[in-house]
Parts: sequence; C-alpha cells; structure tokens
Amino acid sequence: MVSQRIIKQRESLPIFQFRQKIIDAIKSQNLLVIIGETGSGKTTQIPQYILESFEDCRLIGVTQPRRIAAITVANRVSEEHGTRIGDEVGYCIRFDDCTSSRTRLKYMTDGVLLREATLDPRLEHYDIIIIDEAHERTLETDVLFGLLKETYRLRPELKILIMSATLNVEKFSDFFNECPIFIIPGRTYDVAINHHRDAKISSLKSTYVQRAVDTALYIHTQEPPGDILVFLTGQYEIEKACLDLDDRARELNYRKDVKYYNEIKDLVIYPIHATLETMEQKAIFEDPPRGTRKVVFATNIAQTSVTIPGIKYVIDTGFVKQKTYDPSTGMDALLVVPISKAAATQRAGRAGRTAPGKAFRLYSRESFEQMEEETVPEIQRSSLLGTVLSLKKMGIKDIIRFEFIDPPDHILVMNALKQLFLLEAIDENGKLTPLGDEMCIFPLNPFLSRVLVASARQFECSKEVSTIVAMLSVEEVFFSPRNEEKLFEVNEKRKEFYHPSGDYITLLNIFEGYRDSGYDKDWCRDKYFNHRALSMAKSVRDQLRELMQKHEIPIISCRQKENREDGEDIHRKKRSKRSYYETKARKYDVSKILESFSTSYYIHLAKRHPHRPVFYHYASAKVHTNEIVDSNNSLLALHISPTSALHPDNKIVKINNLDWVMYHSVLYTSKALMKVVSKVNFEWVEEKIKLFKKLETVNLNNESGEKQNDKSNSDDESVVIESDRIERYVMEE
Ligand code: ADP
Ligand code: MG
Repeated sequence: MVSQRIIKQRESLPIFQFRQKIIDAIKSQNLLVIIGETGSGKTTQIPQYILESFEDCRLIGVTQPRRIAAITVANRVSEEHGTRIGDEVGYCIRFDDCTSSRTRLKYMTDGVLLREATLDPRLEHYDIIIIDEAHERTLETDVLFGLLKETYRLRPELKILIMSATLNVEKFSDFFNECPIFIIPGRTYDVAINHHRDAKISSLKSTYVQRAVDTALYIHTQEPPGDILVFLTGQYEIEKACLDLDDRARELNYRKDVKYYNEIKDLVIYPIHATLETMEQKAIFEDPPRGTRKVVFATNIAQTSVTIPGIKYVIDTGFVKQKTYDPSTGMDALLVVPISKAAATQRAGRAGRTAPGKAFRLYSRESFEQMEEETVPEIQRSSLLGTVLSLKKMGIKDIIRFEFIDPPDHILVMNALKQLFLLEAIDENGKLTPLGDEMCIFPLNPFLSRVLVASARQFECSKEVSTIVAMLSVEEVFFSPRNEEKLFEVNEKRKEFYHPSGDYITLLNIFEGYRDSGYDKDWCRDKYFNHRALSMAKSVRDQLRELMQKHEIPIISCRQKENREDGEDIHRKKRSKRSYYETKARKYDVSKILESFSTSYYIHLAKRHPHRPVFYHYASAKVHTNEIVDSNNSLLALHISPTSALHPDNKIVKINNLDWVMYHSVLYTSKALMKVVSKVNFEWVEEKIKLFKKLETVNLNNESGEKQNDKSNSDDESVVIESDRIERYVMEE
C-alpha cells in the first residue's frame, strides 16, 4: 500500500500538473527531449507516468550517470509505486543486477545500457529508452546518443526520451532529427549569492574543506533556520568535514553562540558520496527533528542528480573531482579541478527550490567570471579505450567518423586504437581480433579483460587471476585510518599479506585470507580491510567465473598439487603468522600469474634508474635495452606508492632487486606515485615491446579503406613532461 503521504508528495511536485500533457507528448512522439528544473520530478515521475498509462509497454529503461543515483532513485520509485525493489521497478549497475522477469521499469547506469547495446544493437527488450541527466554528458551517455540514433533507424517504433536539467538542449534536439522539446515550467525562488571578498579559486585548493566547515558553522550560528548543502569532491573530504563540523558543533553553547537559538537547538550531519551503502540514510531526504538544522556534505551528485528537500543554504567550494585524460599513461586520472560557471549556477540554484535561499561561494566574483562557461564533455577529456573497443565490437569500422554529438579529439581516438593494438585486440588494419572479441565478454576495463583471457588461454591460471581481477575492480580494499598511531598498527597488520613479487599476489593473499575466514566481517575489521569491498570482490569473482563458464573459457588453477590440504596451512598459521601467506602464495605458480598481467601491463612497464630509487616509463624513456636516455631531464620520475608491498619502507624486498616493474596507474601527489606495482621479468615482455615500434608503421583507423589523415606521430608514446606538470594536478586524496 502506498501511503497518503507519498501520494500527496507526488502530487505536490511541479511536474504533476503537466502529467497528462507529458503522457500525450510521449504518445505522439517517438523522439522527445524533456527539460525541467532539477527537483521538478523528471527522474522519479515521468517513468512512473509511462508505467501507469502505457499498459502494453514491456520494458522502460532509464539511464543515470551515477551508480548511487540509479540505486537511490529505483528504491524511491519502487516505494512510490508500492512494490518491492527488483519487482516491477528495479535497477542494474555493473556487477549488481536487481531486476527480475517482472521488471517493467529499469533504472541503470548509462554504462550498463551501453554494454547491452554492444551485445544487442537493436535493444530488443525495450519499448522505451530514457536517457536521463543528459546534461551531465558522461562519456557513456554521449556514446549512447550515437548508438541510439542508429537503433532508432533500425527500430523506428522505439521511443527515445532525452531528459535534461539545463537549458542548452537545442543541441540534443538537433542531434535527434530536430525532435520536439517539452519544457516543464518550473518555479524557483531567488537565491542571494555571496562571493568571498577576494579568495582566488587557485589559492583554495588546500583549504576549501576547512573553509567549508567554517562557513557551515557560521551559517548555523548566525542565519535563520534552513538546511545546508555543501559541495565537496570526494569521500575522504566529506568524512573529514563531517567529523570536523560535528566536533565543533558539540562545543557550541546554543543559548550564547546561536543567534536563532529559540528555533535552532541542534545539528544533524549527513554525507553523500559514491560509496555509501545504498544511501543507507533515508533520513537524508526527511525533515530533521523540530529545532534541528540539517547539514549535508555531498559530491557533485547533489548538483543535479539527487534532490534533497529543505535546502536553504548552499556552500560552493568551487571544485569537483573530474576524470581527466593523462597523456603520459594513456589513462584517466581523477583530478580535483575548478567547476564551470554553469555548474556554479546549478549549485546555487539548489538553495532556491522551495523558498528564497542563499549561496555562499568560497571564491571571489572575479574567480567566478574566469571559470569556463560549460563543463567540457567527458568524451573530450577521457581515455576512449573501452568505448572504442565496444564500437569495434558493434562493427563500427571508422571510429573517427562515428556520429558523436561532440566529436572527441582525433588524438584521443588514435591513442585508444593504439592501445587496443598493443593489447592485440585489433590488428594492424584496425580490425577486431578473435582475442579482442573474447575480451568483450567481460564488463571490465580492456586491460583487465586482456589479462583474464591470457590467464585462461595461455597461462593456465585463470582461477587465481579472476580473483585478482575482481579485487582490482572494486573500491579500495585497504582501510586508511586518519590517525598516525593507528596507521602504524594497520601497516604492521598489512605486512602479513605482502608478497615480494608485488601487489597482484598481495591482493590474492588478502582474498584468500578472507575466504579462509569464512568471508567473515570481523576478520576484515580485525585486519583493517574494507569488508564491503571484499564481499563485492567475491561477488565480482563469481560473476566473472559465470561468464567464463557460459562462454567456455577455461577456469584453471595454477595451484600446485602437493600441499593441497588446507589443514596443514592452519597449523602453519599457528606457528608463524607471517609465513602463512607467503607459503600459500608459493603454492601457486606466481610467474604464470604475473606473466598473464604482463600481457597488458607491459604497456606500463617501468625501469629503475641504475642508482636511484626511481623508475621511468619504458616507452617514454626509450630504454630500448638497458640504458635510460634522459637527455634534458624531462622524464617523469615514477616512485613506488607507499601503499604498495614493494615500497622500500615495507622492507619486503630490496629496491636493488627490482629492475623492471609494471604498474596500473599514476597518482600525482608531490611525487608521481605508481599504484598497484609488481615485478616483471624482461624476457616476458621482450617480444611484446616490439609492438611499440610497430605502431609507427600501422594505420589503425583504416578498416573503412578510406585514407585517413593521422596527425599523431609515433612520438606520442613518449612523454615530455612540462615542468609545471605536478603543480597542475591536485592529488586525489
Ligand atoms: P528531477 O529528476 O527533476 O531533478 P526528481 O524526480 O529526482 O527530480 O525528484 C523529485 C522530488 O522527489 C524531489 O523533491 C526529491 O526531493 C524527491 N525525492 C527524490 N528521491 C527521493 C528519495 N529517495 N526519498 C525522498 N524523496 C526523494
Ligand atoms: Mg533527475
């Protein structure tokens, strides 16, 4: 039964009075763009209107750019609809499918729909597709635009709806055959904007969290009742801000310090970020107890995806964490960067949804004026590796001429093609190889799919590798305490799992430990591991193995037959904790596992400097055998991350015993840190690195037969680092 309260709430939304008009528009149009203010009810209501009035509609798919938004919204809508989640209303995100044969309304990430489109370009299951939050312009959404246009040509009866928050939507309509635009008139209230007197945004990088907390406290003590929404960039910051504000609010003497103490007697604080347990706090959406002010610290998710009612004050730090292509590794890095003007305006608008409000910008008016007008679409600033592989799989031959709403830079496409060539997923004519085809089976980053296929087809260790790949596909398994003393203890405990070959086997050790504990939550707590990440890794591993079984890809263990009895291990564990995991790992053919990884990560091969504890990226250093040529000191020195088993301080392995390593990503702090590092034998990769050389002679976008003008040259692989390089990056954590 749906409560009266929910029915009232639904009917009070701005969108409700247009219900019939919207239904009529959708009935009469197969392509339609709908825009309306954030919070007007597009995401939660329109799919329900369709559900309620299109009785013969089999399945409605609604995409969301963010996993957590997909889950939250689906939960809310199933509640409004009076059904259990996974029944008529469900959601599907990567590795977590909560739908059933009864599901008619499916919220999902744009990535999930993109994958479905790769496997079935006609999207036969769906009668209606809604691309929601289109203004976010994620990579996946942009690619979906191009694909859906083709799907629509194949299936003109398919209804496609594009929903967006901001006004600049002629572009969507132009792209979709100049289809009609439905505007939901919104009512918004004035928001008074306060800029900081003189703070330049560039000077705020290291202080904005603190300043945001100060400002929240200022509002709490000086301003009339009303809830506060603060925009930060990530989980770590948000948790820190919550703790800080809580500490400081406890010290308040309300009678003395709080101007409106008659009405405000307490403070509740909530975080919202990507790794929250399914928005475990429904309370975020509810009014706080009478006499209490609510403060929500959120990532960009609260800018347009999720609306929290009751917000009267917005604190805008001016920053966002954004995917940014790093040409030195050919991969994306998550960087904290200033927002655009459009984003700042959206953020401020969150304060004026139901009554006049105030926005506090921590930066000056001048800084605002200098911001970019609009956020650059992700497709123009990310690695296109996975995207290009999907497009190849769908038989799209000429990627450069694919119909993008805003085409990505030619160089980004070429770099993706080159990487796919290095991964042997495409051949020298740019054609998908059987290996590349097999890689598409897995919903993984192509580097990891390549490794998994190699471990099954070549190195006979896919059982172990599927576990490690799963561990690499979930959030951070290491819990990092904030205080120094704890940190020491955590490091000591972690050492038990470190393996001298590096982080792949370390991750395997951790998972095995978790398994041997009976997947025990307390074990995780005791060892300072993130239980949610580990249990997710278990689920991912199981799903990968299911896919392997389905596609007849062998699941083979490289565990050596002797020493099989686990009982024996338990004895050893009692005698010497340290040797337990080492011994266990020794039972595997470690080289086979590492060699599997080297099939991809030779692309991230680094060689140690002969006399210093730094490494250089192979391709850039042109260390074609043993010498490092660094003629003008322009090479980026790579360091081993302190969280790696191989970091010298961990004393697991002497740095002099490392010559070649492979790594996953580079994190820029005051140094460039290699994350997920393992040893590699040069012989394993000797043949492969010849492909770097071969790149110079191939023409990868040539599948269409047309002559292309490839502006990039082979030197792209080498990286000349500008001297201010490190400065430009703000570290992730
Ligand atoms: P739009 O997509 O137009 O931005 P939504 O459909 O997301 O709007 O939100 C409509 C209203 O529903 C908002 O007022 C929001 O506060 C409310 N709402 C959304 N999700 C939840 C939830 N999980 N719990 C309670 N209220 C919610
Ligand atoms: Mg929405």
